[in-house]
Amino acid sequence: MTEINKADLANTDTIIQVLLVDDQPIIAEGIRRMLENEKDIALHYCEEPAKAIDTAIDVNATVILQDLIMPDVDGMTLVRFYKANHSTKDIPVIVLSSKEDPTIKSDAFSYGASDYLVKLPDQIELIARIRAHAKNYIMQTERDAAFFALREMKKQLEMSNRKLQKLSMLDGLTGIANRRHFDETIETELKKARQTGAPLSLLLIDIDYFKPYNDTYGHQGGDDCLIQVAKSLAQACHSPDDLAARYGGEEFIALLPDTTEKNALIIADRLHQSIASLNIEHSGSDIAAHVTVSLGISTMTHDQQLTAEDLIEHADKALYHAKENGRNQSVLYSELDE
Ligand code: GH3
Ligand code: MG
Ligand code: MG
Repeated sequence: MTEINKADLANTDTIIQVLLVDDQPIIAEGIRRMLENEKDIALHYCEEPAKAIDTAIDVNATVILQDLIMPDVDGMTLVRFYKANHSTKDIPVIVLSSKEDPTIKSDAFSYGASDYLVKLPDQIELIARIRAHAKNYIMQTERDAAFFALREMKKQLEMSNRKLQKLSMLDGLTGIANRRHFDETIETELKKARQTGAPLSLLLIDIDYFKPYNDTYGHQGGDDCLIQVAKSLAQACHSPDDLAARYGGEEFIALLPDTTEKNALIIADRLHQSIASLNIEHSGSDIAAHVTVSLGISTMTHDQQLTAEDLIEHADKALYHAKENGRNQSVLYSELDE
């Protein structure tokens, strides 16, 4: 490759980088003279067809002037190579032919050439054609870049939205689902349960003597305790359809689709054991040396048509009895005498 015109000025933003691929230096000299006074055009010359594609990429060609008859490879084949290469496929190619032949012209266009000139072309015409093709190419490249940037931005936005949506469903302190997510989920699960007749169980969980816990270990200590209890609850409800959520303050709730009262009680026992094994010291508790929880359990069976409020109210009543009965236990709503 020989750079024969305004190489030092080469600023790819504003200068049209013309690559001439021709085996005859005399043609290169003729073209050089035609373009030498054009401040916005830089000419690069490639004598060897084998190096044409690499050179076009290296000089960031805006327009290629391609000779048709070359010693090793015919120019038409090169046109096809430019069009097949990802980096050069959009660069406009002006074919320079020694003949004004409609069939060759037609072939050149069908292989992807943008224009066809007979050598040596008229100077004014050559410059006008180079500028016109360059303008189109630059506009297209800019449009593609803007389109690509827009697509990237859209992707980023969608990702941020998904992240935000996920965050908006989670409790900030414990990282488990928040009440809003629970409220939405219980409605869908109730609908499903009514349709399928499968049982739907609910656990309402309240930490025992949590006010004295805060008083003894401070609010930060209380927060740490909530995080650990939430973790135990999430582990206890491990079926993929189960949903453990922070219901508010030091109350948690768990929705257990397709779960009988008996199985809900097994999960509740698992939670008691798991929290006992955390062995979180609680000197302010009247019933144990460590943190404990009380649970109310309600279940909707196939013969019932309960609302979310009914199911929660039942669990709440059962929880109240668990507290009344001495805490650190689970009570089933179905076993209350009402
Ligand atoms: P009981 O055994 O009857 O449940 O008694 P309790 O002391 O746990 O009951 P109560 O509902 O009176 O106390 C709840 C306490 O939970 C009061 C409040 O300061 C505390 N609390 C609520 N939300 C948070 C929180 O996000 N962080 C901390 N550290 N404490 C909280
Ligand atoms: Mg409470
Ligand atoms: Mg409490």
